[in-house]
Amino acid sequence: MKSLCVFLGSSQGNHPAYMEAATALGHELARRGIACVYGGSRTGLMNRLADSVLEAGGEVVGVTVQLLKDKEEFHRGLTRLHVVPTMHERKTLMIELSDAFLALPGGIGTFDEFFEVYTLRQLGFHSKPCGLLDVNGFYGPMKLMLDTAEREGFMKQPYREAIAVSADPSELVGLLMDRARHP
Ligand code: AMP
Repeated sequence: MKSLCVFLGSSQGNHPAYMEAATALGHELARRGIACVYGGSRTGLMNRLADSVLEAGGEVVGVTVQLLKDKEEFHRGLTRLHVVPTMHERKTLMIELSDAFLALPGGIGTFDEFFEVYTLRQLGFHSKPCGLLDVNGFYGPMKLMLDTAEREGFMKQPYREAIAVSADPSELVGLLMDRARHP
């Protein structure tokens, strides 16, 4: 696995565990030599992740849209920053550039991006692994919703099981690497 795309809050959340998890993940990616692809922002958990990869000597690739760049909403120290015209093109490029996807806690931007790559996988547009970093039990309600969808016959079991979940950044990156090797 050469690159991992991370979706995560542009806010920092109101518990220190979220920022700590972004830092730990960033250090883990740099340690393993995996490039981090993310939305390019300079705020919240997004900023913390980028800084932690860079401070540990790793590579960070930002993918943003012209509108956000014009508003100065981007991190200035990235290894590379791609700027595209639309949000749609942005997601497409993030998917192309990455070997796996991971969501940390975040808001609707994070949910939207995670569910898009998960849905595309279910439909067979790609076979790259997807994971959730379940910091502080944040993703408990989402796991419950997915369990309900499966139990009620709206989702097949293999798709439900396609998401790797862990509270530990190192373990989760290891799981995604295994799954990237044996899709
Ligand atoms: P949210 O979870 O609502 O804070 O949105 C975070 C997700 O949406 C990130 O994974 C980003 O890809 C995208 N996003 C939100 N705000 C920004 C921003 N200022 N710059 C770039 N991407 C952003």
